[in-house]
Amino acid sequence: MSDLLEIVAPKSARALAMMDVPVQCAMLIGGVWREAASSLPSIDPATGKTIAIIPDASAQDVDSAVSAARAAFPGWAATPPAERARILWRIADLIDANIDELAELETLDQGKPLHVGRWAEIPGAAGQFRFFAGQATAIEGRTITPSITYQPQGKQMAAWTLREPVGVVAAIVPWNSPLVLTAMKLAPALAAGCTVVLKPAEDTSVTALRLGELMMEAGVPAGVINIVTGRGAISGAALAAHPGVDKVAFTGSTTTGRAIVDASKGNLKRVTLELGGKSPVIILPDADLDLAIPGAANAIFFNGGQVCVAGSRAYVHSSVYDRVIEGLTAQAAALQLGHGLNPGTHMGPMVSARQAERVAGFVNDAQSAGASIMTGGKRLGAAGTFISPTVVANVDPDMTIVREEVFGPVLVVQRYDDLGDVVAAANDSVFGLAASIWTESLSAAHRLSREIQAGTVWINCHSMFDPSLPIGGVKQSGYGRDSGIAALDNYLDWKTVCAVI
Ligand code: NAD
Repeated sequence: MSDLLEIVAPKSARALAMMDVPVQCAMLIGGVWREAASSLPSIDPATGKTIAIIPDASAQDVDSAVSAARAAFPGWAATPPAERARILWRIADLIDANIDELAELETLDQGKPLHVGRWAEIPGAAGQFRFFAGQATAIEGRTITPSITYQPQGKQMAAWTLREPVGVVAAIVPWNSPLVLTAMKLAPALAAGCTVVLKPAEDTSVTALRLGELMMEAGVPAGVINIVTGRGAISGAALAAHPGVDKVAFTGSTTTGRAIVDASKGNLKRVTLELGGKSPVIILPDADLDLAIPGAANAIFFNGGQVCVAGSRAYVHSSVYDRVIEGLTAQAAALQLGHGLNPGTHMGPMVSARQAERVAGFVNDAQSAGASIMTGGKRLGAAGTFISPTVVANVDPDMTIVREEVFGPVLVVQRYDDLGDVVAAANDSVFGLAASIWTESLSAAHRLSREIQAGTVWINCHSMFDPSLPIGGVKQSGYGRDSGIAALDNYLDWKTVCAVI
């Protein structure tokens, strides 16, 4: 691997301006852009330079945002679905029209290679708004024939259900894929007729705020979308506990997920949780290794492993273990690290020095516990935020590096001999977010996809996303689903109407 690639100048005026002087951002409450009493720096993790100053919202700011969302709710819920759909479609068009700028902002704010934002995540965000624009006009209840026998003589019963928006939604999202994860909450919530207070992650609020501008331009009425930025412990916690919020749609760590469940108890909010993972990648003896080796490498090293579904535990059959570990090590070592704006960069930095330190800590602990670092494990760059892609072998299943989510470019490889054992090993985790199976055997693929405890199982691929495919976890990876028709249910209630006729 060569030295870190340097930054190259962005093309959009906004991104260029940020590199010059930090841009002062405001938060969106009731259709008005407002300052907060205090602020936080937003840092380009590759250079350590402050690129934006974002409001550090207080509990009072959260209160104003919730009031604005409450006030806007009846009007938005009553807006004809076709009109909501038109607005969502316009948001998607505006994302597309500003795709180069949004990708550059995401790279500067989060660190990811430009091509990840430009070709996967920002189009993915637009795709979410288009998919749920379609769903807005397809919301329907049912007619039911109840078997109630005690109705007045000579009368009959008729019953039907209505689908109604749950109300004000608090959408709280993490820093790894900021815009697309935001879109996964906002698009179904708005399609359902809910109003939203969005709390982006403190490290990566810039594209959410830009999306707020585009949503206003698209015609989203004032108060339907509100954006408060700032610290999780302050504004996030205030939102999760606020009695004016009906539902929390959360994506983030399992630890914060638990805090959200606790905070939501006061008014028994509905809660959906998209949490962490430790997803297995299972390579069978008959796998096409030309597909499986780069596939397994991409499953962990894409976006620097800062992906909830990252394939961080590889289980490789003994008969192909040596070839696979050699191939994975070579793939890792060949990845070019550098500033995300440089077109030659395969992998950018971790989102922050804090995260890089955390990831390096896992690798050091594993080494101290006797694991072999086949490649990588180094902190690089002046800001120390780059972690070289790491392959770890000779681990035992109880090691922390096998059990806990690292959320970085660290792959743990284990060998197995028996398919029954590998299913048990893969399921021996508190998490159950995703898994991939690499095999040419149709029956093994079908069987394992049923036996693996995970919200998503990929066969001969990993990290394939589409707005139509539900994503979410079982066990401590959370409950509820983002994306797909299933996601709309998170934002709708059933109302039963029962009549004597
Ligand atoms: P995090 O839990 O630290 O933070 C997520 C969000 O919660 C941020 O906006 C943060 O400000 C806010 N927050 C923090 N403390 C809070 C509190 N007490 N009350 C309310 N809000 C609070 O997670 P992170 O470090 O930003 O993101 C990484 C995690 O997200 C990983 O565990 C990853 O697996 C998970 N993730 C899951 C999915 C999924 O779909 N399952 C997708 C992406 C990321």
